Amino acid sequence: MNICWICSEAAPYAKSGGLADVSAALPAALAEKGHKVSVFLPYYPQIMGDFCASAPVCFKLLEVPFGWISEWASIRRHRVSDNLSYYFIEFQRYFDRPFLYDYYGVEFGDNAERFTFLSRAAMQAIVALKLEPDILHTNDWHTSLCNVYLKSHLYAKSPNFAGTRSVLTIHNIGYQGIFPKGNLFNTGLGWEFFNYTCLEYFDQINFLKAGIMTADSVTTVSPSYAREILTPGYGFSMENALQHVHFEGRLTGILNGICTSEWSPSTDKFIPHNYSAADISGKSMCKAALQKELGLSNKPRIPLVGCVSRFAYQKGIDVLAEAVEKLLIHDNIQFAVLGAGESYLEAIFSDFCRRFPGKIGVFVGYNNLLAHLITAGSDLFAMPSRYEPCGLSQMYSMQYGTVPVVRLTGGLEDTVFNYNPEILGKSTGFTFRDLYPQSLANTIRWAAGIYKFKPAHFKKMMLNGMGQDFSWRHTADIYEQLYKKNIERR
Ligand code: ADP
Repeated sequence: MNICWICSEAAPYAKSGGLADVSAALPAALAEKGHKVSVFLPYYPQIMGDFCASAPVCFKLLEVPFGWISEWASIRRHRVSDNLSYYFIEFQRYFDRPFLYDYYGVEFGDNAERFTFLSRAAMQAIVALKLEPDILHTNDWHTSLCNVYLKSHLYAKSPNFAGTRSVLTIHNIGYQGIFPKGNLFNTGLGWEFFNYTCLEYFDQINFLKAGIMTADSVTTVSPSYAREILTPGYGFSMENALQHVHFEGRLTGILNGICTSEWSPSTDKFIPHNYSAADISGKSMCKAALQKELGLSNKPRIPLVGCVSRFAYQKGIDVLAEAVEKLLIHDNIQFAVLGAGESYLEAIFSDFCRRFPGKIGVFVGYNNLLAHLITAGSDLFAMPSRYEPCGLSQMYSMQYGTVPVVRLTGGLEDTVFNYNPEILGKSTGFTFRDLYPQSLANTIRWAAGIYKFKPAHFKKMMLNGMGQDFSWRHTADIYEQLYKKNIERR
């Protein structure tokens, strides 16, 4: 199949979260299966750094109709293999910035323009490069306008898209791209698209909603999240649109995989001692290194709980903070926390460091090396998310024999099986459902108790997690089936 994948970020070029990881791994896995995959994303010269040199211009003067006028962009190409190329849309006014979406937490005021431009430029680039895709795969609100373009008078009759079917993946429904309706003008679409079956949303425009309504298939990143977003509690007011899509059989939940070449304890270059399920001894040395790195007391038998996360409402870090304070006061448990985001949460955790020296180590900021060390050196890994479309960190931690403590939601529910001594062979973590500090604190206490007093059970859970197959191969198979089903229907 000829697949065009359109996104706003992809690792290693530009990354803010899980979307970038998926946009690196899934296209690569599909290309390995023999499909021709072309990925389109913006060219961010200030963020891409060294990678800029490996992406020379392959097409100059790409015409991008925008409002009344035409803008002129260029296309850069990084050819990864015969089957896989990354194409970067170069347009300085919108993408030559130090950050992807915001400036220290404040959204860029022209994000509607920026991603309308990206979507239109990607469609124009596919035509200019004569790609004729079987599948147009868009991701999140930033590129979901492409699904509308494909069905519109602008591209429906274009021979380049004669046999194209579209797939939209929702990585996080909390972000929808809602803007004043005046932004419709730049899209090149008329007012006939401003109605409840397409772009209109409470008298504004909603890019994600338009994508949901017009894509041939809508996927999200775990089966449980696909069920949850049909309900008001998780749907962020998209539940009605999604129920419609679900009723038509167009909604699927497909669990993400993880990049096992980057995240494997036997080959990880960022940790001081490699280990595997066959010989786990290196893990205790990683724990000692982590304790040293974060100024924790060097005590091998104290349970150490790690957390690597964006400090965002979604992640339940406010609840974690209350639980951690209780545990630091009353229990003999250590914590290693890495994260950045909401400044009040950064301040709370930094304060814990001052009040409880030796018991909690905190690093505020983004640090990939420390993320690996915490994943390897902790005994337990906390993820108390309010909602979690898929979540990668719990899968990483299981691969490293670090037992996750998670709230039962979305991808966490699909990947972590609660401790049950009667089905120990399946148990991989500790789960709770009610998002209260007390529930989380008690679940961590329960996990710490099993660690201290039932070490054989704990070790079995570690090994169960390390034996799970979270590779992209399986995920790519399911996407391939979905693409084929779509192509058969055309
Ligand atoms: P989300 O995409 O919602 O942030 P995921 O669990 O899907 O959550 O992916 C988070 C990714 O970002 C993981 O690879 C995690 O290790 C990484 N990460 C999050 N915060 C930090 C940080 N402060 N430093 C380094 N890596 C981080």
